Amino acid sequence: MSVAFRLNIKSGILRIMAIISQLRRHQSNLRKCHRCTDMIGTPVVGNPAVSPIMLIGQAPGIKEVDIKKPFAWTAGKTLFKWFAEIGLDENTFRQQVYMAAVCRCFPGKLAKGGDRVPAQEEIKHCSHWLQRELDILHPQLIIPVGKLAISQFLEVDKLVEVIGKKKQISINNQLLDCIPLPHPSGASTWHRKEPGIRLLKKALNLIRRHPAWQSLLK
Ligand code: SF4
Repeated sequence: MSVAFRLNIKSGILRIMAIISQLRRHQSNLRKCHRCTDMIGTPVVGNPAVSPIMLIGQAPGIKEVDIKKPFAWTAGKTLFKWFAEIGLDENTFRQQVYMAAVCRCFPGKLAKGGDRVPAQEEIKHCSHWLQRELDILHPQLIIPVGKLAISQFLEVDKLVEVIGKKKQISINNQLLDCIPLPHPSGASTWHRKEPGIRLLKKALNLIRRHPAWQSLLK
């Protein structure tokens, strides 16, 4: 093994260690955030995965707050079933993909049932945590899940306009790919009937073929 090759490996390892330590510091600060007074419980964060891919959900549910990890309940079961179909089981996904969200706290239940959609002010408050993660990781691919998350990156009126498509977007003057997914919640039927079934399959195929996803399968 040449000296130059060994130095390259060493600087790569040092770089990854520096990013992990930035992510750990970031997550430790994020766990202490209480900025939004109407939110319930403590912020939910995933693993400090140094990844070329970020998954961005809407906001955790009450079960995620109890279990202290994103997508830990019924919607997660469906979501991880989708990802297993394209090569990554839940455990590997959690270790290798950085899991973020538009809001990191549980917004509470609506009187008529279902979770409250975060208010614009709460989304704005929480956006600086997401922005910091984008700055640290410089992902090649983001996967926003559900209309609220998708709308932070793309103009969206109806899901049929964006699911099954890959869009190039610019964040901090850096180009990256965005492949949105519908929300896997049991309350939503969109992904269980046409054209949702076909478009979801198309979106998962786009993710499967993406170089960032392929790099995690090696
Ligand atoms: S939603 Fe975000 S900004 Fe608001 S309290 Fe939770 S972590 Fe903080």
